[in-house]
Amino acid sequence: MDPEGLKEGKILLEIVILSLLLILEAWLPLFKERKERLRHGSRNIAMGLMNGAMTGFLFSGATAFITEAAEFQGFGLLHWIEIPFWTEAAIAIFVFDLWMYLWHRANHQMPFLWRFHRMHHSDPQLDVTTALRFHIGELTLSSLVRFGILYLLGLTLWQLILYETILLPIILFHHSNVALPERWDRLFRILLVTPNMHRVHHSHFQPETDSNYSSIFSFWDRFAKSFRRKEDILTLHYGLDAFEAERWQSFLGLLVTPFSPAQKE
Ligand SMILES: [Zn+2]
Ligand SMILES: [Zn+2]
Repeated sequence: MDPEGLKEGKILLEIVILSLLLILEAWLPLFKERKERLRHGSRNIAMGLMNGAMTGFLFSGATAFITEAAEFQGFGLLHWIEIPFWTEAAIAIFVFDLWMYLWHRANHQMPFLWRFHRMHHSDPQLDVTTALRFHIGELTLSSLVRFGILYLLGLTLWQLILYETILLPIILFHHSNVALPERWDRLFRILLVTPNMHRVHHSHFQPETDSNYSSIFSFWDRFAKSFRRKEDILTLHYGLDAFEAERWQSFLGLLVTPFSPAQKE
């Protein structure tokens, strides 16, 4: 299957889902008192566009090279086992999502990684655009470590893009400020990471921040006992106290967030 076709489909899907969720957030918001939605959203979207251009330029060639090298050499977990095409794709998605859980958890537990990841967490107004708000330093580090993981797992480029195409609507959805009824959220989160689950992860209260690390499948948190629920989601306070000031929320403020001396207590 053609990874390029899937990649184009992924970009189109991103634009469609992002637009739909922006409309839904205006129509059915959970937190209703949102000010300067446009300013907040355009900063995060600008960050996402810049990241997309930079990671595409810096890492897409090397990612294709590494996945093709593993395939050519028959190296990596998924090349060592003989299984039908779609079973292999399903295993690739599960295993890579487990890696994403472990990597996300490391971003919270290792102070150096947290410096970069905290920019995603310093957003005081969680919405769909927060899904695009990552520091280029975090994306660079994760891309570099990922090269080794892709090689060891023997993922094909197509499987990786398939994973990203499935992840994308889920990550946009679970960051959104859409008021999804709790009974629906509960039903979806049997398998997937839902808005109410990820909202707890964006709490300014550290024991809540240090929970719910999963990306696609919610069960990794249940297995690893990092799952946390909050009864009254409307009492949540998002963001990081040390980075609430406007100077940390400007485009430049976001870029310098990793270099501030303010540390996680
Ligand atoms: Zn996090
Ligand atoms: Zn998040």
